[in-house]
Amino acid sequence: MKKLLVANWKMKPTTLADVELLTRASDAEGVVLAPPFPYLDFVKKMARHAELCVQNVFFENPKNGGAFTGEVSCAMAKAMGATYAIIGHSERRQFLRESDAMIARKVAVALEAGLIPILCVGEGHEVRHRGEAQAVGFVGMQLMTDLSLLKNEPSELIVAYEPVWAIGTGNNATPEQASVMSNAIRKAISTNHPSLRLKVLYGGSVNAGNIAGFARERDIDGFLVGGASADAGEFPKLISIIHNL
Ligand code: PEP
Repeated sequence: MKKLLVANWKMKPTTLADVELLTRASDAEGVVLAPPFPYLDFVKKMARHAELCVQNVFFENPKNGGAFTGEVSCAMAKAMGATYAIIGHSERRQFLRESDAMIARKVAVALEAGLIPILCVGEGHEVRHRGEAQAVGFVGMQLMTDLSLLKNEPSELIVAYEPVWAIGTGNNATPEQASVMSNAIRKAISTNHPSLRLKVLYGGSVNAGNIAGFARERDIDGFLVGGASADAGEFPKLISIIHNL
């Protein structure tokens, strides 16, 4: 199975010309593009091979919309052509105070709406400093709440293990650390939700220089890439490494 490459562009690029450039550079099989909301339609119309993802959804999906200024529903994301939704990214947990309780609701409504959630979990520096067992325990607690509203129906879920200390820092986890955590995530989820079809991704300062090392790990099904995915020079290198594995 080819490893999945999810490109989280975050709040970039800032011009439509650069969106066009980046979409052209990133449009390949096995790639999922997560542009900012205003660019979704543009990217959807340009991309021939890549699938589409939103970077967030609201935790309610009322049939006729609702009075939630600034929010975007799962139904809207679907209508714009998204297949996936990133949920619980650490930047939203940190800067927007998204709680695990909110994230649980988002995961549930996304699945109900037919989107595949890409649920982000991961420990911070303090927890990692205390050791691997603590990191596994911390992520286990996140998963317990984040998946607490799941109905026991067969569905597809992606979990991205993204240690907070590795995101945007250039200080990536080692492939071994990522593999241990991915394996623990897989075990925790398959015990409680045996009918879920699960992929586990690694995210945190992935680039063309280190992706091959992670890709050799059987427990890692792919990557959630931030900084390097918004770089039209760098991202094609990641695509070509994954395609040539
Ligand atoms: C991310 O934003 O999900 C991420 C992994 O960022 P970066 O690759 O820049 O560390």
